[in-house]
Amino acid sequence: MYSISGIVRLKKVDYCVWHVVFQMDQQPQEYATDFLYLLKEKKWVINSLVTHELSSLMQGHSCIYCGETKIACFVASKEFELIKQGIINNRQFLSQVSADIDLKPEEISLDLHVVNNKSKWQELAEENRFYGNLLRIKKRQ
Ligand SMILES: [Zn+2]
Repeated sequence: MYSISGIVRLKKVDYCVWHVVFQMDQQPQEYATDFLYLLKEKKWVINSLVTHELSSLMQGHSCIYCGETKIACFVASKEFELIKQGIINNRQFLSQVSADIDLKPEEISLDLHVVNNKSKWQELAEENRFYGNLLRIKKRQ
């Protein structure tokens, strides 16, 4: 249960932030979540929700875990750590992320850090951007 069977889309939405649409257990229904990678702490920031991908629900697919059409999948969300660990271990995910942030896949940590507070998440993303800029300036010197 809850094994990642496909990464449908992986979009970089901000500095070190990715929106991932994925499938589990060979089912057609798609799910979505966001990841933020902290360069200094070497940790992935995630929240504890797994959401149904909206257009996938509208195409008439249904979720085998909860059978509902709410935004969040409260059944799959109970296993959010397992699911999100599965995504960051996914080869396709790792190779795109490593190309985006210019690190080798093996240099990217697999540690998860749960942050459900939206403003805390934004604060971390800002600090991360600041740190990333410092790194870039250092590299140029
Ligand atoms: Zn569901």
